[in-house]
Amino acid sequence: MAKCRETSLTVQNPVLSIVVPMYNESENVWPFYERLKKVLDQIGESYEIICVNDGSTDDTIEKLLKLRELDPNVKIIDFSRNFGKEIALTAGIDFSSGEAVIPIDADLQDPPEIIPELVSKWREGYDVVYATRLSREGESYIKRLTATLFYRIAQKVMHINIPKDTGDFRLVSRAVVETLKEMRERNRFMKGLFAWVGFPHSVVYYRREKRHGGKTKWNYWRLWNFALEGITSFSYIPLQIATYFGFVVALLSFVYALFIVIRTLLFGIKVPGYASTITIILFLGGVQLICIGILGEYIGRIYTEVKRRPLYVIRRKYGL
Ligand code: UDP
Ligand code: MG
Repeated sequence: MAKCRETSLTVQNPVLSIVVPMYNESENVWPFYERLKKVLDQIGESYEIICVNDGSTDDTIEKLLKLRELDPNVKIIDFSRNFGKEIALTAGIDFSSGEAVIPIDADLQDPPEIIPELVSKWREGYDVVYATRLSREGESYIKRLTATLFYRIAQKVMHINIPKDTGDFRLVSRAVVETLKEMRERNRFMKGLFAWVGFPHSVVYYRREKRHGGKTKWNYWRLWNFALEGITSFSYIPLQIATYFGFVVALLSFVYALFIVIRTLLFGIKVPGYASTITIILFLGGVQLICIGILGEYIGRIYTEVKRRPLYVIRRKYGL
């Protein structure tokens, strides 16, 4: 009897929850599942694979449903539309029930073969095990440079330690997941949120592969917005820039005013000054607009927060 209860318990609460956001990953569903399954069988723990279909316009959902017929451990969250990777991840984490949760990309850029190492570190007692990439194959020099720059800024400005070269691929314990679930902000910068919660962590290194099939959904505009999201959700230093800039400009104008007064006393008034006047006016106008823009970034975010809309809309759930 006791044994029976135990089995039913393990079925309900698997040891591992794999969370996979999927947006137009039709080509990758099967290859991904096959590689992942091999690894999970090797580990031999109970598991669930939560696939979040993030409003794909191809036949990702059909493929997932077929997969679920074969393996009931595959569970599906089908979004009503595309909400973006961060939100898809959030939904998967919300519905996960495993003792450890592993978010992973569907395009096989995060090799499932690392998972046993993540799990063994977790067994050693770490709550967070990062998977950090050694190489960034197939990525341009500029992308690497901007990434490095971003991590630097994050450390200085955001006061959170975002591990370098680490994506969302990692293992987090139930305790971390429960903390994350309480953070319901709409502007979600997952890497930052993961870093903010803290907990003892360890690292496993791996070699990042090229995308297995399909296309990346990233471009520089998205990357820029992503960075902006990160900075504004973790720091208000940009808001203070206006203040400091104001002080500097005021000081400089005071010095300049003194200079003009003295020059006028010594040499009299020379009227021309058109070029310098117009330059100063335009410059200050530009700076003021930038400062208003920075304010706008924050006000816009406050606006989306206060509306308190749900983070995501689920069309259908399978197995959850
Ligand atoms: N993804 C998603 N919603 C989106 C964009 C991407 O769920 O709006 C998923 C995508 O299917 C993949 C993961 O997020 O599993 C990473 O996306 P991608 O490979 O495009 O990003 P990159 O690896 O280039 O950073
Ligand atoms: Mg990818």
